[in-house]
Amino acid sequence: MCECISKVNADLKQHNTMLVFTLLGNPSRAVVDTMQVETGRGKKKAAAVIATFCPFCGERYEAEPAKAAA
Ligand SMILES: [Zn+2]
Repeated sequence: MCECISKVNADLKQHNTMLVFTLLGNPSRAVVDTMQVETGRGKKKAAAVIATFCPFCGERYEAEPAKAAA
């Protein structure tokens, strides 16, 4: 389990900046920034995209799901 998010946030603090990350789960997972394609009344809001692998060290955040028995 890596601690890249907290390490990078500590470095970014001097720039009054922090990464967007999930509050749920341990470790916190990086959130990929998204934006709406079409804006305006009645349009869906942009969906959240959460990284499966740490973007800094490449470690998988959670073990792969169990495979179904053959
Ligand atoms: Zn990492």
